Amino acid sequence: MPIHEKHLIRPENLVSHENLVIDGIDVSGDWSTFIRSRVVPDYNENLQEEIEALPGGEFIHRCWQCGSCTNSCTMNAVNPDFNPRYWIYLIRMGFESELVRDKDIIWQCVSCNKCTYACPRDVVPEGVMKATAHWLEHKGYTPKSPSMVFDEVFSEQVIERGKIEDGEVVLNFLTRTHQKLTQPWLIEMVKRLMKHLPVKMLATLGLATIFKPRTKGWGPARDAIKDYVKERDEAATDALGPHIAYKKPETPEQIAAE
Ligand code: SF4
Ligand code: SF4
Repeated sequence: MPIHEKHLIRPENLVSHENLVIDGIDVSGDWSTFIRSRVVPDYNENLQEEIEALPGGEFIHRCWQCGSCTNSCTMNAVNPDFNPRYWIYLIRMGFESELVRDKDIIWQCVSCNKCTYACPRDVVPEGVMKATAHWLEHKGYTPKSPSMVFDEVFSEQVIERGKIEDGEVVLNFLTRTHQKLTQPWLIEMVKRLMKHLPVKMLATLGLATIFKPRTKGWGPARDAIKDYVKERDEAATDALGPHIAYKKPETPEQIAAE
């Protein structure tokens, strides 16, 4: 009998006997498979509350583990270890160390929202993936991912001016992630823009980058958004404590543990 989501079981906990006869009945191979029980010594009883305090994680408590999110997931189709249903289960059970084992793939969610449309309980699993990635950074388990830096650069500009200047977003993103501005794809894109865009539009783009225009009457909206962001930050800090900076592993033991 196949074991559902067998890849979630640690190989050392999956045991079967090549040759085993019990009471005269041959139970060799798959018939003798059993899963060693695991011991979890470090529950985090507040884990669900911590995720709920972050934007996107608010509705995780509604999950009834139907698995529709994972079945519809774009990333799960290419990597079976990417499993939103399983991570939601771990969070609700408080299995922090189990969740952290997958810290290097949780951020890979491509925000396609197929899971959100499939979910019968309006959990918004896409939001839970975002909240979990933020949580990993907040707790110091992972460095800030490039996608998070992009979100920040984008949001900062919208909040401040009510407008987006694409060139400036790309420039700020590359600078903040310490990437070269002379990347071949960027040079090629600029060349093509220069070649194909009308001169008037190029001039408008250039002037917008220099003079940074704002949406008329944006002030009250900006203040309201800033208040909301502050409120959410305070709620997150209340639930999780002050932000813990990511510590890059230095010793061979730490690197192995990573
Ligand atoms: S939004 Fe993320 S978790 Fe949801 S289906 Fe797409 S890749 Fe999967
Ligand atoms: S589809 Fe919704 S209810 Fe079902 S497992 Fe995923 S998050 Fe939970």
